[in-house]
This record gives sequence, structure tokens and C-alpha cells, in this order.
Amino acid sequence: MKATNHTLCHQEIVELLSTEGDARKTLFETAARIKREHLGNIVYFRGLIEFSNRCHKNCLYCGIRSGNKTVVRYDLTDEEIIDAARFAFDNRYGSIVLQSGEIESHAFTGRVDNLLKQIHSATNGGLRVTLSCGEQTADVYRRWYESGAQRYLLRIETSSPILYSKLHADDSKHSFRRRIQCLDDLRKAGYQVGTGVMIGLPFQTISDLADDLLFMTGVDIDMVGMGPYLEHSETPLFKYRHELLPLDTRLGLTFKMIAVLRILMKNINIAATTALQTIEQLGREKAIMVGANVIMPNITPGSYRDDYLLYDGKPCTDENPEDCKTCLEARIALTGHEIAYGEWGDSAHYSLRDQGNK
Ligand code: SAH
Ligand code: SF4
Repeated sequence: MKATNHTLCHQEIVELLSTEGDARKTLFETAARIKREHLGNIVYFRGLIEFSNRCHKNCLYCGIRSGNKTVVRYDLTDEEIIDAARFAFDNRYGSIVLQSGEIESHAFTGRVDNLLKQIHSATNGGLRVTLSCGEQTADVYRRWYESGAQRYLLRIETSSPILYSKLHADDSKHSFRRRIQCLDDLRKAGYQVGTGVMIGLPFQTISDLADDLLFMTGVDIDMVGMGPYLEHSETPLFKYRHELLPLDTRLGLTFKMIAVLRILMKNINIAATTALQTIEQLGREKAIMVGANVIMPNITPGSYRDDYLLYDGKPCTDENPEDCKTCLEARIALTGHEIAYGEWGDSAHYSLRDQGNK
């Protein structure tokens, strides 16, 4: 295995994603070693605040799509959001993620802008803020960056335009091209840019997944959050549930995707996503063992969590931020990693590129 190569060809990636037994063990050990050498055995926390489940889009896989009329829609109040940010700051998380459905409007742009300013003033600029609010214009991205968002997560979902068109309606609101454009706009605005894909989607092949990894290296991404696709009963894709890979296979594939990505991109930030924990209690901790270095504890007030269900079976919706923290600390200690309390945990990949440009 050319484990230390920065570049692997499509066929080599397909082979790595197909490994089992000893070869898989070697893959995981190699990824773990590379992470240790480049980033240390350190895990960064990002407190996740799911501040609104209103969404104007209708992605065929997502439980909070606008077409799902069974969802109770909510917006956290500014006060609740600031309190959650303060919780992250007081507990030395270093960083938060503000995530929501996708709304493009002056009111929404202004609200996020205002929230960013309030959060920075309430925490003395002590938190790095990531936004994950979908596709917006280049002007909006710039405005939010100037107001204090330094990172942005926008998953490409799949790098295959053909597969993308099977997961989204064929209309101007769900355009693959625009998604690509947005990633470019985010980079130009100055963000640490994150993307990601779902793993185990209907119609998806191992070759598609290899292309996804090559896409991430091709756009020289700074951060990645990828996780298993999990079906939601109130979505159009639910009808393909019998054609999906078994859950444990989706889980195993996700670990391999993380490991291969770590080999390809040694110093980016890779998140161990909540969807992993949905399949297996220790799913996120296992991802940390094979190359991930970021965990996003949910700090959304417990009462709203039942209404932010992107997929069925989401864990910990009945818990509060304090519970999540205690539970995670114990689990991460088991992996032999240290939580980097009080650190921003910027993507080393971004920082090095940024220095190179100065
Ligand atoms: N609205 C924003 C952010 C919220 S959705 C956006 O779409 O970018 C965040 C992520 O949840 C999506 O990018 C998608 O990858 C993931 N997601 C949605 N439905 C899912 C499902 N059924 N299974 C797994 N992940 C899902
Ligand atoms: Fe909305 Fe994001 Fe869900 Fe698509 S994935 S329906 S944009 S919340």
C-alpha cells in the first residue's frame, strides 16, 4: 500500500475502500499514525447549535425538507443562541457551529449577521464560529465573514452530478453547479472551507466515493464532515430503503473513507459526525481512532432537538449540553486522545496555505 503518498489514483482508492481483514487494519493504523505525526492525538470540540429548522429547500433525503409538513418548525431566540455560545465559551470549547436549514432572505442574512456580532461581543471574541446555513450569494458569504464567521461547512453531498440529480429535484433551487460555485465563493471570501458527502446513498458506488475523495483533494478543502446516509421515513428516498447497504457496512465504509482521506490530506480537520453515533454508540470515538480529529457535541437546548431530525434515530435528543460533555469526555479518554480545551483548532491545512499566501 502506498500509504504515505499524498496522491493515490482512483483505482488505488477503490481498492483501499474495499479492504477487509488485515489490509483494513493496516489502512486504519496508517491513518492513525499519519494523524498522530501531523496533528497529534488531539480532539477539538465544536459546540453545535441547530438554531433553526426552517428550510426553503426540499432535498430528497432530508427529514427537515420544506415538503415534510409533519415537522414542527422552530427558531431559537437570540438569547437562547447567545446562551449556548456562552456555554461553549465557559466550558472552553474554543469553537461553535451555527447550523440551520437553508433560507435566502434579507431577514435571515441580517439575523445571522447580528448573531455573529452578539456572540463575539458576549464572548470577547474568544470563540471561532463556523456557519452551516447552506447556499448563499457571494455577497452574503462576504458579509458574514466580515461579521466574524471564519469557517463554513457546505457539503457537496456527492461529487457526481448524476447522483446529485437523483437526490434533488431538477430545479434552480437544487443545482449542483451552484453548490460548486458556492464552495468557490466561500474560499474567495477567506473562510476555512469545509465540505463532505453522505456515504451509503441509494445508487452510490464505491467508484463514486473514490471520486468524492478526489474531489476533496482537488478543491484543496480545509475541513471535512462526512457520515453515513440514514433514511428518514418522511422523505422521498425512503422508498429505496430495501436497496441500501446494511447499516454496519455503511458505518465501516465511513471509517474507511475517513482513513483514506487522512492519508490523502494529512493536516485537514476531519469531523467524527453524529450520524456515526446513530449506527453505533461508539461510532464517533472509532472514527477518531482512524483519522478524525474533531467532534461536535450538540449544545442545542434539549427541548428543540426532537425537531431537528435530518434522519431517523438521531441520538441524545433527550439530553442537555452538560450531559453530552460529561459523556464525551469519558469516551474520548478511552481512545487515548486529549481534548484540546480552550483552543480554536483551526485547520492546519488552511493556516499553512494562508501563511504561504502572505
Ligand atoms: N441546510 C444546510 C445545513 C443543514 S443540513 C445544508 O444543507 O447545507 C446538514 C447536512 O445534513 C447535509 O449537508 C446532509 O449531508 C446531512 N443530512 C441530511 N439528511 C441526511 C440523512 N438522511 N442522512 C445523513 N445525513 C443527512
Ligand atoms: Fe434543507 Fe439542508 Fe435539509 Fe437540504 S439538507 S432540506 S438544505 S436542511
